Amino acid sequence: MLLRFLFFFLCQAAGAALGWWQAGPWGAVAGACAAAWVWFAWDLWRGARVLAWMREGDPARAPRLRGMWGEAADRARRLVRQGRLREQASDARLQEILAALQASPNGVTLLDAEGRIEWCNQMAEEHFGIHFERDALQSIGNLVRDPDFSAYYAGHDFTRDVVLQGRASTPSRPVRISMHLHPYGDGRKLLLSRDITALEQAEAMRRDFVANVSHEIRTPLTVLMGFVETLQTLQLGADERARYLGMMSQQAQRMHHLVQDLLTLSRLEGSPLPGLVDWVPVASLLRHCEDEARALSAMLTQGAPQPHRIAFPTPDEAQAAGQVAGIAAELQSALANLVNNAVRYTPAGGSITVAWEAGEGGGARFSVSDTGPGIAAEHLPRITERFYRVDRSRSRDTGGTGLGLAIVKHVVQRHGGTLHVRSVVGQGSVFSVDLPPMRVRR
Ligand code: ADP
Repeated sequence: MLLRFLFFFLCQAAGAALGWWQAGPWGAVAGACAAAWVWFAWDLWRGARVLAWMREGDPARAPRLRGMWGEAADRARRLVRQGRLREQASDARLQEILAALQASPNGVTLLDAEGRIEWCNQMAEEHFGIHFERDALQSIGNLVRDPDFSAYYAGHDFTRDVVLQGRASTPSRPVRISMHLHPYGDGRKLLLSRDITALEQAEAMRRDFVANVSHEIRTPLTVLMGFVETLQTLQLGADERARYLGMMSQQAQRMHHLVQDLLTLSRLEGSPLPGLVDWVPVASLLRHCEDEARALSAMLTQGAPQPHRIAFPTPDEAQAAGQVAGIAAELQSALANLVNNAVRYTPAGGSITVAWEAGEGGGARFSVSDTGPGIAAEHLPRITERFYRVDRSRSRDTGGTGLGLAIVKHVVQRHGGTLHVRSVVGQGSVFSVDLPPMRVRR
């Protein structure tokens, strides 16, 4: 500032000196005035340059000036540059936040105070069947026309969510979307949407499972309680008493098997996947299966004119089959389950053939064929569901729990294998297990 005054006075002094030299004292006054005007015009021109540049706002083109205007331009340039940097940083931050919201597995939609879409992620586009580029600033009420949603939106009670049918829903594959509005800011709303189809299915399965287990336990329990009451109230002879006790023991066995199978299933669900460290000899698996099958067959065909014809690989063939990597108890129970089912469902006189063959690419195939009643095609897709039975009475009569094939499927999947069923009603069934090459060693 001081320099500026000094320069101004120097200009005036120079103008006055020039005027004095040319025209005496009046010349000095005129010279000083003229010098002041020149200085004023020159200063105005410098200020105008700074103002013009500030209007344009490009820091790279700031005028290079000395003195007060130079400093003002310099400071303004620094402020503009800092503002630009801050703007870039917050823009990058915003993009990061939007990218995170895009990555969200839930739909996120931002609504303004009038309920118009300000922004939404791809998941929300999928849930509502909208396209942000096209539908930005459209009212959500015009795009989601479900009456439940309209009532929810109009009700202003956003403490709960509302569940709607998804856009991609079909009668065979319903899709359920949960929507929850969260007010924020100045009347704005955050609309979160979530596909809860799998959750609802799991919940329905859990309910069915509890209902099934209760039903399965209640039936033998009711019978058992009836017998206990009979024994308590009636005077029975020793023979009758023994018969009743035998039937009670049968019902207790049934409950015991059910609880055992349930525990097996929960153990399978909770335990880590079988490794490739423990190798189980196929011969020992087949020998145990054969012993169990023959004992079961003898029990079921007692008094029948003809027993089952049961064929297993010979000991040499079983020996040549090698070993399988996995958990011995699980493999044993799965294979025995398939063989026992064949024995249980095949009437006396029928045949059951068990085979172990080399599979594709070094794997192995275990198969059980029977000449039993077979299973109709419409039952096959559901046969491995828990408690699903085709022949309910035969299952009960032979001590079935309805969980056998569910356990088999679980064990096979845990060992990287697949379970296949082929069946023709009236001719028989073939249950086979394919094991992958990495689990088989000959
Ligand atoms: P269960 O304990 O009732 O046998 P599973 O899960 O082992 O239960 O089998 C489910 C249903 O599949 C059985 O109830 C039965 O109707 C049918 N099934 C299983 N194996 C055979 C088979 N070898 N032949 C005919 N039906 C079978």
